[in-house]
Amino acid sequence: MDMEKLVALCRRRGFIFQSSEIYGGINGFWDYGPLGVELKRNIKEAWWQDMVRNPPPGPDGEEIAMVGLDCALIMNPKVWEASGHVGGFSDPMVDCKTEGCKGRFRADQLATSVCPLKPSRAPGQHDKCQLTEPRTFNLMFKTFIGALEDASALAYLRPETAQGIFVNFKNVLDSSRLKLPFGIAQVGKAFRNEINPRNYTFRSREFEQMEIEFFCHPDDSMKWYQYWRDVRIKWYTKLGIKSDNLRPREQGKEELAHYSIGTTDIEYLFPFASEPQELEGVAHRGAYDLTQHQQHSGKDMSYFDEDAWLREKDKYPEAEAAKEAKSKPPYRFLPHVIEPSAGADRFTLAVLCEAYAEEKVGDETRTVMRFHPRLAPIKAAILPLVNKEGMPEIARKLYQDLKRDFNVFYDDKGAVGRRYRRQDEAGTPYCLTVDGQTIQDHTVTIRDRDSLKQERLPLAEVAGKLRELLRP
Ligand code: ATP
Repeated sequence: MDMEKLVALCRRRGFIFQSSEIYGGINGFWDYGPLGVELKRNIKEAWWQDMVRNPPPGPDGEEIAMVGLDCALIMNPKVWEASGHVGGFSDPMVDCKTEGCKGRFRADQLATSVCPLKPSRAPGQHDKCQLTEPRTFNLMFKTFIGALEDASALAYLRPETAQGIFVNFKNVLDSSRLKLPFGIAQVGKAFRNEINPRNYTFRSREFEQMEIEFFCHPDDSMKWYQYWRDVRIKWYTKLGIKSDNLRPREQGKEELAHYSIGTTDIEYLFPFASEPQELEGVAHRGAYDLTQHQQHSGKDMSYFDEDAWLREKDKYPEAEAAKEAKSKPPYRFLPHVIEPSAGADRFTLAVLCEAYAEEKVGDETRTVMRFHPRLAPIKAAILPLVNKEGMPEIARKLYQDLKRDFNVFYDDKGAVGRRYRRQDEAGTPYCLTVDGQTIQDHTVTIRDRDSLKQERLPLAEVAGKLRELLRP
């Protein structure tokens, strides 16, 4: 697949625009157009529905407890000291001092970066290249709170959604009366001042994450790590990513963050890269984050296992011994955490890449976006065959009925073949056409985007049929 063609289609059809395009754009920032915003919303909604409201049953068929959160983008800067971001959330950066280049690169990505000098080569490969020694560069965006721009007013735009979940762990526990294991989920913006934003929306400076922190008993943590790895891989294939293009990759010991017990990257083979790239990381974080926040805030972040206590309290008949026992393991402890952390924009880009197809139909070539129907921006287009003989009236009525429940589109402009092609490019899975026969027997045709088959269906059954076709 040709990435340039996809980028051109995304712009032409209103999936993705460069941010501030009329001013020459701004590197690392993107806007979603009318079709793109629907696609990305559907992705986030599918994630929320399938992970938070109706997650798959656990390893023993049990129900999984999940709740959501929506935290502020700016938090107390102490959060980022405790989490390790102020001290360590940085990439190594090198600059090129050569006139005409002055490039800035990530030191760990030199081999796959391109130097601005011609002919195209990797930085450091021209005789003229003068690369500096690597320096660390913190990726957090800074801002100031209030009128004074001094150190006491310094704050950061959050570089991940996860920390909002950790600092609210006790609030959620106390307000929801949850018992381990349970998960807290959040979808929202994150900001990273990436040294080298590239590959379209793949590496941006502002993006959205879909994150779960799943809290569990330390003894069960490996079981939940495996559960979430499997659940997340299946979710991508269920939404139409071919398993050939998807690769779970267990990080080697040398790659792991110092606190991580294990991390699996779920990678997708994007057309712009020779190797699969990370869509999501599923990390076993142990008790690292709760420990850090407990130490830095001085607030107790522990969990009391009331069930275990009630089962065993008779072992401690003396009040003093009972009090002592209740305050430590195995009854009171810091839970372990499994974190499936996905990028909404990266998955949107993978969905766009996966969907793009060109194929011959008769002697024409059609471009079609084969989105999974649940993700498709427009679910059905309603097309009157001609703009007369009572057809527009019936088609309008159908459109008005359907739009209460579905994102549908009314199109009466141009030849019907052209209208089908436009919907193919938008990835609309179904076209409903009102024609001469509709006037006589109240049926319409429903055209399937992929098979191109058309069936007739009574008008009264259209909504039910669409509901059935779009059900998760
Ligand atoms: P990378 O190694 O690609 O920089 P990361 O390992 O730093 O990513 P995480 O911190 O694990 O990424 O973030 C979780 C998810 O957030 C990633 O899997 C990705 O989908 C998304 N993400 C991270 N950085 C970006 C970015 N700059 N642009 C778009 N999405 C991102």
